[in-house]
Formats: sequence, structure tokens, C-alpha cells
Amino acid sequence: MKIDVMGVRFDNVTMDEALEKAKEILSRDGADYVVTPNSEIVYEAMHSEELCGLLNHAALVLPDGAGVVLGSKILKTPLKEKVAGVDFADRLLGHLAQTGGSVYLLGSKPGVAELAAEKMLAKHPGLTIAGMADGYFKDEDPVIEKINAAHADVLFVCLGAPKQERFMQEHKEKLNVRLMAGLGGSLDSFAGTVKRAPKWMIRLSLEWLYRLIKEPKRFGRMLRLPKFLWAVVCKRIGGG
Ligand code: UDP
Repeated sequence: MKIDVMGVRFDNVTMDEALEKAKEILSRDGADYVVTPNSEIVYEAMHSEELCGLLNHAALVLPDGAGVVLGSKILKTPLKEKVAGVDFADRLLGHLAQTGGSVYLLGSKPGVAELAAEKMLAKHPGLTIAGMADGYFKDEDPVIEKINAAHADVLFVCLGAPKQERFMQEHKEKLNVRLMAGLGGSLDSFAGTVKRAPKWMIRLSLEWLYRLIKEPKRFGRMLRLPKFLWAVVCKRIGGG
């Protein structure tokens, strides 16, 4: 079942259900993509038909953030829970490790994917990392060729929004993978180059505050969170 949060149609799933859906996608022929928008990205999609379309064309739309879940509650159509992209990615890696599957890592600054791969292999023995490439390329064709030559089951696309959604939608037919996931800065998290908030902050839905303290340059961008919530409240009051 889909739940509309300010134009973006989210799948109303728990983490376990999201993983089941991912397994279903993996069992099908052809490539489908998963997106993990947070409230900043939903706010951007409210002002960009293109981004909104790219998100809604995904096979699975997961709410990566407490803001989106709160928004859905204010709108009286509550989503079951937050399904953070990086946690979903980790669960997917666990599944691939168990089933002899493989992943290709695309994105982040040079060197980050290598570091992320080391950490992933340490946590998920049995996982195959089919290849990796950084996210700062000019020409997409050689990147696509490299990915196709690796024959991976899953492709993590970590280029930030909307670049990663555009990449997945545009090249879906050409890419020789089964599932792609747009995961923003997740490779930085896996690599440890950008630390995640402590567990207690995640529990209290304060991950955004931790990020703000660590990366104050994100302040302008993060103002989209209160703007998003304000728009949600206005929609609720307006009964729209
Ligand atoms: N990135 C990239 N290529 C680009 C622009 C960004 O690979 O041309 C990477 C960047 O290094 C970072 C990620 O994309 O690892 C975006 O991270 P951010 O936290 O901004 O993602 P979001 O908040 O959109 O999930």
C-alpha cells in the first residue's frame, strides 16, 4: 500500500517488509530501483516535478527519516516506521551474503567505496563486492560498461539526490543488474568517513541534529525540514 506524503508515494512497510520486497525485485528479470527520500528530498520534490516523478517511478519508496514519518502522522495517514536507507542497505548486504549474491558500489569521493567495501566484507563474510567506482565521473558510458562487466545482482547508487535517481531511471534498461538502490551518503557511513549519530540520538529522532552539529554547512539545506513540516501542517489545516 502506498501513502502519499506531499506528493511522494511511499511504501508503507517495516524494515522486514522492505527486505521482502527487495527479495521479490531480485527474483525478477530486468532492473528496478529503490529510493530512500528523507524530508529534505520530499521538500525538494514538492518544487520539482522531475524529482517527484523520478521518486514515484521507483519500485520501492522508503521513508529515510523521522521527518517523513512525522509528516505522515500529521496528515493522518501514518507510515509504519522509518526505514533508513543505510540500514536497509545493510540488511540487503546480509541477504546477499547468505545467498551468494553480489553488489557493485557506485558513488562518493575516490577511496570511500574501497573503505566501505572493507567494512562490509568484515561484517558480512560471504558477500561478493563485484566492483566499485567513485561518483565524480564526467562521462556515464564507461561507468555503465564497467558495471555491466561486473555482473552484480545489486547496484548501490550513492550520488546524492536528484543525481542518483536520474542515473537509475535513465539507465535502468541498459544496466545489467536486478536491483538498484539510491542511497545518498550511505557509502560515507559504511566507510566511517561520516559518522552516524549515537544510538540514543537515533532513538530520540535527533539524527538530523547530530548531522547539523557535525556538518554546519548543511544548515541551509536542513532548513527544508521545518519548511517541510510547516507545509504538512498547512495542508492538514487546509484539509487539502
Ligand atoms: N556524490 C557523488 N557524486 C556527485 C555528488 C555527490 O558521488 O557528483 C556523493 C557525495 O560524495 C556523498 C553523496 O553523494 O557521498 C551525497 O551525500 P549526501 O549526504 O548529500 O546525500 P543525501 O543527503 O542526498 O542522501
